[in-house]
Amino acid sequence: MVFESHKSTFNRRALLQAAMTTAAGGILAGSASSLLAQAPGPKPASNPTANPTANKGAKLVLLGTKGGPRVGGTRSNPANALVVDGKVYVIDAGMGVTAQIVKAGLNLGDIRAIFISHMHSDHELEFGNLVYNIWAAGALRTPVDAYGPVGIEAMAADFWRLNRMDIATRMVDEGKVDPATLLRAHDFAAKQGPVMAEGGVKVSAFTTPHPPIENLAYRFETPYGSVVYSGDTAYNPALADFARDVDVLVHEVLYVPGVDRLVQRANGTPAFRNHLIESHTTAEQVGQIATRARAKKLVLSHFVPGDMDWITDAMWREEVAKHYKGEIVVGRDLMEIPLG
Ligand SMILES: [Zn+2]
Ligand SMILES: [Zn+2]
Repeated sequence: MVFESHKSTFNRRALLQAAMTTAAGGILAGSASSLLAQAPGPKPASNPTANPTANKGAKLVLLGTKGGPRVGGTRSNPANALVVDGKVYVIDAGMGVTAQIVKAGLNLGDIRAIFISHMHSDHELEFGNLVYNIWAAGALRTPVDAYGPVGIEAMAADFWRLNRMDIATRMVDEGKVDPATLLRAHDFAAKQGPVMAEGGVKVSAFTTPHPPIENLAYRFETPYGSVVYSGDTAYNPALADFARDVDVLVHEVLYVPGVDRLVQRANGTPAFRNHLIESHTTAEQVGQIATRARAKKLVLSHFVPGDMDWITDAMWREEVAKHYKGEIVVGRDLMEIPLG
């Protein structure tokens, strides 16, 4: 018994040390306490996880704020985490989403569901890999639901096929469960309607044009407030109606002079420039949407271009503020926006 007790203490100390070492890399104290929660042995009175209200509350974490599939620069590709009472809802899964979740101090094992806005790679390239990474970390113990446009079910099945050799090997060598049984993908075929409801969180979707395809905007109602995520969308006043009176509107944004430079850099044609502008929403138009929606707070994300440092926060803000007088947040990776 004494030996077991020492062993527990040692394990807990080692886990804590590991968590604190990682803390230098950006992990928050919450992660350390979650690691401790998984360790054997009694919890000391000071352990915050002993308090059932410790995880109460909600926040939105911007994981990746750059529009487009190009990797690099100071912004990661599109991804967000809405955390409600300790449960994590991932919204879009662009390249780098897993690493950003870890950097944000969130636990992969707390991911409850994943929502994909549309089938552009900057929004779904790491969808399968994210679920794989939860599994590889030994944290895929309960089913994760994934919602997205028609095609998300096929994408999930294709992902498991693509990686079947590794998965079969690990199931034998490491005794792991088949991860495919723990991912439940759901095609959303309607134009608008409810998507998911559980534990006080209600999610609905709304289809918006993103030529030449369509995009799902999501609305999250939580006990602490509401969030609407635009995904990628052309200027669409109907989206403002879907977002009416929302607490936090996260909207994609495009800066026209920056797009001209971006087209130059890519040796793009006028048709490419027109495509970008017609399938997205300019900063000025985002201000109009936020005002029409009566959004209490507007968070800019999915910056196009997102890797030109000469476009300052003030420049983004100035365009939007022409039409919106509420609070404007110029999003940055790992920024946290509390709800309630
Ligand atoms: Zn995009
Ligand atoms: Zn897109």
